[in-house]
Amino acid sequence: MKVLVAEDTKSNLMFLKACIEKAGFDVITASDGIEAIEQFDKHNPDLILLDVIMPGLDGIEAAKKIRERTVANKGHWVPIIFISAMDSDHDVVRGLEIGGDDYICKPVSQAVLNAKLHAMRRIYEIQRELDAANKQLKLFAEYDVLTGLANRRKFNDQLEREWKRSARTAKPLCLCICDVDYFKQYNDHYGHQGGDDALCAIADSLFKTIRRPGDLVTRYGGEEFAIIMPETDINGAMIIIEKARIHIEELNILHAGSAISKFLTVSAGISSALPRRDDHDQGIKTMIRQADEALYTAKAQGRNSVVIEATSLEVTAG
Ligand code: GH3
Ligand code: MG
Ligand code: MG
Ligand code: MG
Repeated sequence: MKVLVAEDTKSNLMFLKACIEKAGFDVITASDGIEAIEQFDKHNPDLILLDVIMPGLDGIEAAKKIRERTVANKGHWVPIIFISAMDSDHDVVRGLEIGGDDYICKPVSQAVLNAKLHAMRRIYEIQRELDAANKQLKLFAEYDVLTGLANRRKFNDQLEREWKRSARTAKPLCLCICDVDYFKQYNDHYGHQGGDDALCAIADSLFKTIRRPGDLVTRYGGEEFAIIMPETDINGAMIIIEKARIHIEELNILHAGSAISKFLTVSAGISSALPRRDDHDQGIKTMIRQADEALYTAKAQGRNSVVIEATSLEVTAG
């Protein structure tokens, strides 16, 4: 754990440095507020001790600037302890109110400083664990554990966001729903684990084929994948999804239960829209329904194919 300590009186700074090192921390020093900020930017310390009265930029102003930086960078919380000879209630309260996490009055007792450093480290470590747990939760909330693709929740959020963005930029938005052919038979023949492995292979193939920035490949449901393609017209969407279909067929995953091929295949339906700002709820529902209908047509026409929903062709042509 790295501790930044800023203090303008050289003898005090040396004393603090020695105490902190003795407590088992690495120390970075600064002799005024400006240097404290420079050292903060350079070394990214885990804990900061700031003398309140310093020439140029004082400890209070330095703390405000450091807090602004961590908020702007969405960075981790970094504990700040003020050190000051100003020991009135008013001074202590002010220090804590502007964002200090603790306040030590001078002359500094080595024992008290030592205890406070360790207490701060405990809180800091708990905070780090919470940050990590939150990151993990966010991941679980948005990603599918089997395939690693974005899940249905992220699909919903992203489609709404892209719908609104397309309404602003007046660019077409395309959606594809893709479904594995005869997957029930695949599971029956190769077992559920075999089915899971196949879903992962398909997810991986889709992810590798559909790589334009802004495109999002998601696991829509059991053996269905949905792909959001912003700023893409229907011809472009057809080309990329057809390529994805072929790549999946060329994985050559044997499918003994398929009525149409030796290998595992998928069918896909595509819809396209020129979103308007005022109708996102209804517009999105229609878009999903149309992709679904096109998928149904692909299934009815013999599977292992990509079908564009009829009115989507008109949308782009018009
Ligand atoms: P179609 O060609 O008409 O799409 O036929 P299908 O058999 O693929 O369609 P159906 O909807 O009847 O079956 C889908 C199957 O997908 C049923 C279910 O057991 C399987 N499935 C759904 N999710 C998972 C999963 O996470 N893992 C595995 N192994 N199988 C899944
Ligand atoms: Mg001072
Ligand atoms: Mg299905
Ligand atoms: Mg299916």
